[in-house]
Amino acid sequence: MGSLYFDHAATSPTRREVIEAMLPYFAEFAGNPSSIHTFGQKAKRALDDARRTVADLLGARPAEIYFTSGATESNNIAIQGAARSYAQFGRHLITSAFEHHAVLHTFQALEKQGFQVTYLRPDSQGLVRPEDVEQSLRPDTILVSIMLANNEIGTIQPVKEIADMVRRRGILFHTDAVQAVGKIPVHVRELGVDMLSLTAHKFYGPKGVGALYVREGVEIAPLFFGGHQEGALRPGTQNMPGIVGLAAALRLACQEMEEESTRLRRLRDLLEQSIIERIPDVHINGHPEQRLAHISNVSFAGLDGEALLLALDMQGIAVSTGSACTAGSTDPSHVLRAMGVDPVLARGSIRFSLGRDNTEEDVRFLIEVLVTAVSRLREMALAGV
Ligand SMILES: *Cc1c(COP(=O)(O)O)cnc(C)c1O
Repeated sequence: MGSLYFDHAATSPTRREVIEAMLPYFAEFAGNPSSIHTFGQKAKRALDDARRTVADLLGARPAEIYFTSGATESNNIAIQGAARSYAQFGRHLITSAFEHHAVLHTFQALEKQGFQVTYLRPDSQGLVRPEDVEQSLRPDTILVSIMLANNEIGTIQPVKEIADMVRRRGILFHTDAVQAVGKIPVHVRELGVDMLSLTAHKFYGPKGVGALYVREGVEIAPLFFGGHQEGALRPGTQNMPGIVGLAAALRLACQEMEEESTRLRRLRDLLEQSIIERIPDVHINGHPEQRLAHISNVSFAGLDGEALLLALDMQGIAVSTGSACTAGSTDPSHVLRAMGVDPVLARGSIRFSLGRDNTEEDVRFLIEVLVTAVSRLREMALAGV
């Protein structure tokens, strides 16, 4: 058995068809889409095509799609930009306590600039309650940002309900939809959001390219200056191979969504059922139904998640203890903490995130390795080694 990758929520490999689509834009069609000559116009057409593809797949208009360097940038442009533009109407912002750090740290930076932020705790199953959002709204609230699907436990948030309620009061709503795009249907108008962030490498596109949807009529202040590109909201020469790759990857992910999510749900259920049957003292984190098909977060009582991660890695198996961005820190996951999971139990948690390259045989091998590794680590912990 070679190496097995079960960390697709951290990043996914760029698929072959996407690489093929990108290749001509490195050299053959390397024009700058802002140039007037034929080389430039060829690139401009590819840029327009990619924008139309992404817009169509998200139910948006092409002019509402802005290409960026990824979701961290999209989140920053959306949240900081909206806060700056609307500060004259109030300085209160709302988000959840279990957002990705690209959202959380942006809000923390805004607190230092004089904004007040309410960080809502999800319930014990990892869902943000719309009534909690409603109760925390104030006359000076200008922006609410709640993720569409959580990256550590996969729960799908009631974003449509929250967005409807927030926007009825004339308050802006943003969602970090990184984990949901390409996995479940995401339609900006049905969701009723003002802004939505995504990144290509979570759906088998290249790293370093993403997009931000901004509803027509929503004015946000740019963070960067220097050119007219991307409606001057994100100036700078576009990452053409990346943008072409993002569009190709999104198209494929949407085409295969139903079939692939059914397959992954089956594999995830096999994994979880086997863990429950064969390993004592385990707890599956998150909501049993209201979640993505490919993510499973499991707490193994009495052991250290990082030790288990390393034991699996020695067998060529890649998993995660939380989000990749917090790897190396010994604090238990902020997501599980926000949900009220016992910190000791949270420390023994592992996120398995399945993907296109995983087969049933892979999952069965993972289970065998896991059963052995968990019992060995627990024995060592008991012996005080
Ligand atoms: C991965 C991820 C991001 C960050 O995406 P980058 O491409 O690294 O900028 C943001 N939010 C969520 C929920 C993610 O999973």
